[in-house]
Amino acid sequence: MNLQEIIKDAQEKKIAIGHFNFSNLEGLWAIFNAARELNVPVIAGVSEGERDFVGVQEAMMLVKSLRERFSYPIFLNADHTYSVERVEEVVRAGYDAVIFDGAKLPFAENIQKTKEAVERAKSINPDILVEGEFGYIGTSSKILKEVPEGVALGEEDMTSPTQAEQFVRETGIDLFAPSVGNIHGIIVAESFVERLNISRIEEIRKAVSVPLVLHGGSGLPDSDFQNAIRAGIACVHINTELRAAFTKGIKEAFNKNPDEIAPYKYMKEGRDAMQEVAKKRLKLFNFLP
Ligand SMILES: [Zn+2]
Repeated sequence: MNLQEIIKDAQEKKIAIGHFNFSNLEGLWAIFNAARELNVPVIAGVSEGERDFVGVQEAMMLVKSLRERFSYPIFLNADHTYSVERVEEVVRAGYDAVIFDGAKLPFAENIQKTKEAVERAKSINPDILVEGEFGYIGTSSKILKEVPEGVALGEEDMTSPTQAEQFVRETGIDLFAPSVGNIHGIIVAESFVERLNISRIEEIRKAVSVPLVLHGGSGLPDSDFQNAIRAGIACVHINTELRAAFTKGIKEAFNKNPDEIAPYKYMKEGRDAMQEVAKKRLKLFNFLP
Protein backbone atom coordinates (compact mmCIF):
# COMPACT_ATOMS: atom_id res chain seq x y z
CA MET A 1 0.00 0.00 0.00
CA ASN A 2 1.18 3.54 -0.65
CA LEU A 3 0.93 6.27 1.97
CA GLN A 4 -2.46 7.51 0.80
CA GLU A 5 -3.92 3.99 1.01
CA ILE A 6 -2.38 3.45 4.44
CA ILE A 7 -3.92 6.65 5.80
CA LYS A 8 -7.34 5.85 4.29
CA ASP A 9 -7.10 2.34 5.74
CA ALA A 10 -6.30 3.80 9.20
CA GLN A 11 -9.29 6.11 8.90
CA GLU A 12 -11.59 3.17 8.15
CA LYS A 13 -10.18 1.10 11.00
CA LYS A 14 -10.43 4.09 13.36
CA ILE A 15 -6.75 4.01 14.23
CA ALA A 16 -4.08 6.62 13.42
CA ILE A 17 -0.65 6.60 11.80
CA GLY A 18 2.06 8.08 14.02
CA HIS A 19 4.12 10.97 12.60
CA PHE A 20 7.39 11.57 14.45
CA ASN A 21 10.06 14.19 13.76
CA PHE A 22 13.78 13.54 13.67
CA SER A 23 16.86 15.69 13.24
CA ASN A 24 19.60 13.08 13.15
CA LEU A 25 20.18 9.44 12.28
CA GLU A 26 19.70 8.34 15.91
CA GLY A 27 16.23 9.88 15.91
CA LEU A 28 15.29 8.13 12.69
CA TRP A 29 16.42 4.78 14.11
CA ALA A 30 14.35 5.44 17.23
CA ILE A 31 11.25 5.98 15.08
CA PHE A 32 11.95 3.03 12.82
CA ASN A 33 12.77 0.58 15.65
CA ALA A 34 9.65 1.59 17.59
CA ALA A 35 7.40 1.01 14.57
CA ARG A 36 9.11 -2.23 13.66
CA GLU A 37 8.75 -3.67 17.15
CA LEU A 38 4.98 -3.18 16.81
CA ASN A 39 4.80 -3.92 13.08
CA VAL A 40 2.86 -0.74 12.22
CA PRO A 41 3.42 1.76 9.40
CA VAL A 42 5.01 5.06 10.38
CA ILE A 43 5.72 8.53 9.02
CA ALA A 44 9.04 10.21 9.78
CA GLY A 45 8.88 13.99 9.52
CA VAL A 46 11.38 16.81 9.10
CA SER A 47 10.55 20.49 9.56
CA GLU A 48 12.41 23.10 7.49
CA GLY A 49 15.01 23.47 10.28
CA GLU A 50 15.33 19.73 10.83
CA ARG A 51 15.79 18.96 7.15
CA ASP A 52 18.33 21.71 6.70
CA PHE A 53 20.33 20.08 9.48
CA VAL A 54 20.01 16.49 8.17
CA GLY A 55 20.18 17.50 4.50
CA VAL A 56 17.02 17.74 2.37
CA GLN A 57 18.09 14.94 0.01
CA GLU A 58 19.91 12.92 2.67
CA ALA A 59 16.76 12.70 4.84
CA MET A 60 14.96 11.11 1.89
CA MET A 61 17.83 8.73 1.17
CA LEU A 62 17.98 7.60 4.79
CA VAL A 63 14.24 6.85 4.91
CA LYS A 64 14.41 5.15 1.53
CA SER A 65 17.30 2.96 2.65
CA LEU A 66 15.22 1.69 5.60
CA ARG A 67 12.12 1.26 3.44
CA GLU A 68 13.96 -0.75 0.80
CA ARG A 69 16.36 -2.77 2.93
CA PHE A 70 13.67 -3.89 5.36
CA SER A 71 10.70 -3.76 2.89
CA TYR A 72 9.00 -1.64 5.55
CA PRO A 73 6.20 0.95 5.26
CA ILE A 74 8.12 3.99 6.54
CA PHE A 75 7.44 7.29 4.78
CA LEU A 76 8.92 10.79 4.78
CA ASN A 77 6.92 13.98 5.24
CA ALA A 78 8.23 17.53 4.87
CA ASP A 79 6.64 18.99 7.98
CA HIS A 80 5.55 22.69 8.14
CA THR A 81 6.79 24.23 4.93
CA TYR A 82 6.25 27.95 4.57
CA SER A 83 6.97 28.70 0.91
CA VAL A 84 6.07 27.23 -2.46
CA GLU A 85 9.80 27.15 -3.33
CA ARG A 86 10.55 24.90 -0.38
CA VAL A 87 7.58 22.69 -1.32
CA GLU A 88 9.06 22.30 -4.78
CA GLU A 89 12.46 21.40 -3.30
CA VAL A 90 11.11 18.41 -1.32
CA VAL A 91 8.90 17.16 -4.15
CA ARG A 92 11.97 17.05 -6.38
CA ALA A 93 13.87 15.22 -3.61
CA GLY A 94 11.23 12.46 -3.70
CA TYR A 95 9.39 13.06 -0.38
CA ASP A 96 6.13 11.14 0.10
CA ALA A 97 4.22 14.08 1.55
CA VAL A 98 4.56 17.78 2.28
CA ILE A 99 2.69 20.24 4.48
CA PHE A 100 2.17 23.73 3.21
CA ASP A 101 1.64 25.80 6.34
CA GLY A 102 -0.34 28.95 5.66
CA ALA A 103 -2.07 28.86 9.04
CA LYS A 104 -0.78 32.31 9.97
CA LEU A 105 -2.19 33.89 6.80
CA PRO A 106 -5.72 35.31 6.49
CA PHE A 107 -8.25 32.69 5.26
CA ALA A 108 -8.44 33.77 1.59
CA GLU A 109 -4.68 34.17 1.26
CA ASN A 110 -4.10 30.79 2.93
CA ILE A 111 -6.46 29.17 0.37
CA GLN A 112 -4.74 30.86 -2.54
CA LYS A 113 -1.17 30.02 -1.39
CA THR A 114 -2.06 26.43 -0.45
CA LYS A 115 -3.73 25.92 -3.83
CA GLU A 116 -0.59 27.21 -5.53
CA ALA A 117 1.54 24.80 -3.46
CA VAL A 118 -0.74 21.87 -4.39
CA GLU A 119 -0.61 22.71 -8.10
CA ARG A 120 3.17 23.15 -8.10
CA ALA A 121 3.74 19.92 -6.13
CA LYS A 122 1.40 17.81 -8.28
CA SER A 123 2.89 19.15 -11.51
CA ILE A 124 6.21 17.61 -10.45
CA ASN A 125 4.89 14.45 -8.77
CA PRO A 126 1.16 13.73 -9.11
CA ASP A 127 1.41 11.09 -6.34
CA ILE A 128 2.77 13.34 -3.59
CA LEU A 129 0.36 14.02 -0.73
CA VAL A 130 -0.09 17.68 0.14
CA GLU A 131 -1.43 18.68 3.53
CA GLY A 132 -2.95 22.06 4.32
CA GLU A 133 -3.70 23.77 7.61
CA PHE A 134 -6.36 26.17 8.65
CA GLY A 135 -6.54 27.42 12.23
CA TYR A 136 -3.49 28.70 14.12
CA ILE A 137 -1.97 26.40 16.77
CA GLY A 138 1.49 28.00 17.24
CA THR A 139 4.79 26.93 15.66
CA SER A 140 7.06 25.84 18.51
CA SER A 141 8.27 22.35 19.43
CA LYS A 142 9.47 23.41 22.88
CA ILE A 143 8.33 23.25 26.47
CA LEU A 144 6.50 26.57 26.90
CA LYS A 145 5.54 28.50 30.02
CA GLU A 146 2.46 30.02 28.40
CA VAL A 147 0.11 29.52 25.47
CA PRO A 148 1.59 31.25 22.38
CA GLU A 149 -0.17 34.42 21.23
CA GLY A 150 -2.92 33.96 18.65
CA VAL A 151 -3.50 30.24 19.30
CA ALA A 152 -7.17 29.31 18.96
CA LEU A 153 -8.41 28.14 22.36
CA GLY A 154 -12.00 29.32 22.38
CA GLU A 155 -14.55 27.30 20.45
CA GLU A 156 -15.28 30.32 18.22
CA ASP A 157 -11.59 30.56 17.18
CA MET A 158 -11.14 26.90 16.28
CA THR A 159 -11.53 25.67 12.69
CA SER A 160 -15.21 25.73 11.71
CA PRO A 161 -16.66 22.83 9.66
CA THR A 162 -17.94 25.26 7.00
CA GLN A 163 -14.54 26.89 6.51
CA ALA A 164 -12.84 23.50 6.60
CA GLU A 165 -15.08 22.27 3.79
CA GLN A 166 -14.39 25.36 1.68
CA PHE A 167 -10.66 25.18 2.39
CA VAL A 168 -10.34 21.53 1.34
CA ARG A 169 -12.53 21.95 -1.75
CA GLU A 170 -10.82 25.09 -3.07
CA THR A 171 -7.21 24.09 -2.38
CA GLY A 172 -7.33 20.47 -3.60
CA ILE A 173 -5.27 19.19 -0.63
CA ASP A 174 -5.03 15.49 0.23
CA LEU A 175 -4.86 15.86 4.03
CA PHE A 176 -6.26 18.52 6.35
CA ALA A 177 -4.90 19.74 9.69
CA PRO A 178 -7.49 21.64 11.75
CA SER A 179 -7.27 23.61 14.96
CA VAL A 180 -9.38 21.78 17.54
CA GLY A 181 -7.79 22.72 20.87
CA ASN A 182 -4.37 21.30 19.92
CA ILE A 183 -1.20 23.38 20.43
CA HIS A 184 2.34 22.92 19.12
CA GLY A 185 4.78 22.38 21.97
CA ILE A 186 4.09 21.36 25.56
CA ILE A 187 2.51 24.02 27.79
CA VAL A 188 3.55 23.82 31.43
CA ALA A 189 1.66 26.93 32.62
CA GLU A 190 -0.09 26.55 35.95
CA SER A 191 -3.83 25.86 35.78
CA PHE A 192 -3.66 25.20 32.03
CA VAL A 193 -4.59 21.79 30.65
CA GLU A 194 -4.51 21.20 26.89
CA ARG A 195 -7.71 19.42 25.83
CA LEU A 196 -9.20 18.62 22.43
CA ASN A 197 -12.69 19.51 21.27
CA ILE A 198 -13.85 16.05 20.19
CA SER A 199 -17.26 17.10 18.87
CA ARG A 200 -15.57 19.71 16.65
CA ILE A 201 -13.41 16.94 15.17
CA GLU A 202 -16.55 14.91 14.45
CA GLU A 203 -18.20 17.90 12.75
CA ILE A 204 -15.12 18.60 10.60
CA ARG A 205 -14.84 14.88 9.75
CA LYS A 206 -18.40 14.97 8.39
CA ALA A 207 -17.78 18.20 6.47
CA VAL A 208 -14.60 17.31 4.54
CA SER A 209 -13.69 14.52 2.13
CA VAL A 210 -10.00 14.04 3.05
CA PRO A 211 -8.28 12.43 6.07
CA LEU A 212 -7.64 14.63 9.13
CA VAL A 213 -4.25 15.13 10.79
CA LEU A 214 -3.73 16.17 14.40
CA HIS A 215 -0.71 18.39 15.06
CA GLY A 216 0.62 19.48 18.44
CA GLY A 217 -0.10 16.12 20.07
CA SER A 218 2.66 16.34 22.70
CA GLY A 219 1.28 16.85 26.20
CA LEU A 220 -2.29 15.70 25.58
CA PRO A 221 -3.91 13.10 27.87
CA ASP A 222 -4.10 9.57 26.42
CA SER A 223 -7.90 9.57 26.43
CA ASP A 224 -7.99 12.70 24.23
CA PHE A 225 -5.84 11.00 21.60
CA GLN A 226 -8.03 7.92 21.44
CA ASN A 227 -11.28 9.90 21.45
CA ALA A 228 -9.91 12.13 18.66
CA ILE A 229 -8.96 9.05 16.61
CA ARG A 230 -12.41 7.53 17.12
CA ALA A 231 -13.87 10.87 16.00
CA GLY A 232 -11.92 10.78 12.73
CA ILE A 233 -8.22 11.73 13.14
CA ALA A 234 -6.13 9.42 10.92
CA CYS A 235 -2.60 10.72 11.63
CA VAL A 236 -1.07 12.20 14.80
CA HIS A 237 2.08 14.33 15.01
CA ILE A 238 4.46 14.08 17.97
CA ASN A 239 7.68 16.06 18.21
CA THR A 240 8.27 17.90 21.50
CA GLU A 241 7.94 14.77 23.67
CA LEU A 242 10.54 13.00 21.53
CA ARG A 243 12.98 15.90 21.72
CA ALA A 244 12.57 16.03 25.50
CA ALA A 245 13.16 12.26 25.84
CA PHE A 246 16.20 12.28 23.53
CA THR A 247 17.81 15.16 25.42
CA LYS A 248 17.04 13.63 28.83
CA GLY A 249 18.60 10.34 27.72
CA ILE A 250 21.83 12.06 26.75
CA LYS A 251 21.93 14.15 29.93
CA GLU A 252 21.56 10.97 31.98
CA ALA A 253 24.35 9.31 30.01
CA PHE A 254 26.69 12.17 30.97
CA ASN A 255 25.51 12.09 34.57
CA LYS A 256 26.49 8.44 34.73
CA ASN A 257 29.74 8.88 32.86
CA PRO A 258 30.86 12.52 32.55
CA ASP A 259 34.06 11.54 30.74
CA GLU A 260 32.39 9.60 27.93
CA ILE A 261 33.53 10.90 24.56
CA ALA A 262 32.25 8.15 22.20
CA PRO A 263 29.22 9.67 20.51
CA TYR A 264 27.73 6.26 19.74
CA LYS A 265 27.65 5.49 23.46
CA TYR A 266 25.94 8.61 24.77
CA MET A 267 23.75 9.09 21.69
CA LYS A 268 22.48 5.56 22.19
CA GLU A 269 20.94 6.64 25.49
CA GLY A 270 19.11 9.45 23.69
CA ARG A 271 17.94 7.14 20.94
CA ASP A 272 16.66 4.50 23.36
CA ALA A 273 14.73 7.05 25.40
CA MET A 274 13.16 8.53 22.25
CA GLN A 275 12.31 5.04 20.99
CA GLU A 276 10.40 4.24 24.20
CA VAL A 277 8.23 7.35 23.82
CA ALA A 278 7.56 6.69 20.13
CA LYS A 279 6.60 3.10 20.93
CA LYS A 280 4.22 4.17 23.70
CA ARG A 281 2.56 6.65 21.34
CA LEU A 282 2.30 4.11 18.49
CA LYS A 283 0.62 1.62 20.81
CA LEU A 284 -1.89 4.27 21.80
CA PHE A 285 -2.60 5.47 18.23
CA ASN A 286 -2.98 1.90 16.91
CA PHE A 287 -5.06 0.75 19.89
CA LEU A 288 -2.53 -2.01 20.69
CA PRO A 289 -2.34 -3.60 24.17
ZN1 LIG B 1 2.81 20.45 13.39
